[in-house]
Amino acid sequence: MELTGKNYIGNTLSGKGGIFFKTINPIKNIENKTKFIEATEDEVKLAISLASESFNNYKEIPGIERSLFLKTIGDEIMKLGDDLIKIYCQESGLPEPRAIGERSRTINQLNLFANLIENEKWRENFIDIADPNRKPLPKPDLRKTSVALGPVVVFGASNFPLAFSTAGGDTASALACGCPVIVKSHPMHCGTSELISKAIINAIIKTKMPNGIFSNLNSKGFEVGQKLVMDSKIKAVGFTGSFKGGKFLFDMVSKRKEPIPFFAEMGSVNPIIILPSSIKEKSEDLVKNLIASISLGAGQFCTNPGIIFTIDDENTNNFITKIGDKIKDIQNQCMLHPNMKSNYENRSESIIKTKNVGSLKNEKLIPENNFVNTKIAIVSLNDFLENSELREEVFGPFSVIVKCKNLSELLSGLNKLSGQLTATIHSEKEDHNKINSIINILKNKVGRILFNDFPTGVEVSRSMTHGGPFPASTDSRYSSVGLESIKRWIRPISYQNFPEEFLPSFLK
Ligand code: NAP
Repeated sequence: MELTGKNYIGNTLSGKGGIFFKTINPIKNIENKTKFIEATEDEVKLAISLASESFNNYKEIPGIERSLFLKTIGDEIMKLGDDLIKIYCQESGLPEPRAIGERSRTINQLNLFANLIENEKWRENFIDIADPNRKPLPKPDLRKTSVALGPVVVFGASNFPLAFSTAGGDTASALACGCPVIVKSHPMHCGTSELISKAIINAIIKTKMPNGIFSNLNSKGFEVGQKLVMDSKIKAVGFTGSFKGGKFLFDMVSKRKEPIPFFAEMGSVNPIIILPSSIKEKSEDLVKNLIASISLGAGQFCTNPGIIFTIDDENTNNFITKIGDKIKDIQNQCMLHPNMKSNYENRSESIIKTKNVGSLKNEKLIPENNFVNTKIAIVSLNDFLENSELREEVFGPFSVIVKCKNLSELLSGLNKLSGQLTATIHSEKEDHNKINSIINILKNKVGRILFNDFPTGVEVSRSMTHGGPFPASTDSRYSSVGLESIKRWIRPISYQNFPEEFLPSFLK
């Protein structure tokens, strides 16, 4: 399947601009062949006005029809076959099984939302019947439902070319509730994005959805994204990416004349607290699973465990030695892009070379091209408290072990953390008397608390919270994964004393 390098402005391929760029194959460290064309100002404007015009029709289309549309997108994605997998791997350096797994997850997400909107219960309708005889005042008839906000801009992340990108959770949830979507395609995987966009457009045509409910715009810089979020016709933004990018756009959007919701899911260090009883009773398992979680996907996960708290006792040093041994079994892994690799090396080495910081890595593996090795830094609680660099995400297979002398030190370390997507407690019975004080702090800090588990791997279900207090996300009340994520794109509306003929059918 040939890539065109063009943008989708509604259902039409368009490449009017003069700025070109290519994606990179990080394994071979060469450019991929397609020249992508950055969207021009006029193309951005056209995508926005098509989205705005199509909104009025799209939001009124019955849920059952939008549901068929979402399912058809999944079918069309499957029809892309091996071409999609090949381009995904070429643009990300991620292995084929990961591409296949992420494709399934993406289609499952679409299907989950498709099933959700088959009836109108997702709108959380409430009816308060009138009571004309109520004293001192009669009670009005009030009926509440939810309506879609309007056109949404979606920024996908580099590390999930499918599940958090073009047809990922943000797009699926927004399209499900009746919002048109304009995707600012991620410049590291524009080819994957073009193919997925083609699948979405095919589904639009097959299910007779309005032209304009989906556009996909290329860009290699910030301009296109910034123009999109500042346009008055855009009514909400979904962003998955770095803290730097998310906060910048959030600040920008806050200055709009008409404020709009901006949902950014950003990085996180996902602390893991390993209590002495766990080390005593299942050290081998812990070491194996911990290293697997840190190095999974070259550590390029927002839920990657970046900080490990321990409480010193006679087993701690032995546990850390075992981690050092296990790291030697991990082969070098390819990062998504040369920039990611150099950021990883700079940040991890800057920490490791800091005074008093110990480190574990396989010195024998020489990182080549965009390949890196797994590294662990070891610090005291005091250093952790004093050096803010140790508390920030290093994107890649890296984690910091913080050695605390006792529970009180551990609690002060937890108190110093900023908002997180997840935190994990590992404990056996002997330490269960410590758990409540830990949970008490973590509840204020995170969106998901795990027990004797690992945070990588985010289940897509109704009970999932993927978000957390700032800076993990810009609005801790919402999740960007799972069915609840649809709530980001809707608002409540109440009908008071309305004649039945003018009420939506599900409020009658
Ligand atoms: P990124 O560099 O922030 O890029 C994300 C998108 O935002 C790109 O399309 C980028 O466009 C755009 N962007 C960034 N800064 C911008 C600005 N100032 N103005 C306009 N657009 C801007 O993030 P990434 O490297 O793709 O993703 C990796 C990060 O995402 C990691 O920190 C990871 O932890 C986080 N992440 C979080 C979650 C979550 O759910 N919380 C999930 C996955 C990943 P350009 O590249 O064209 O500039």
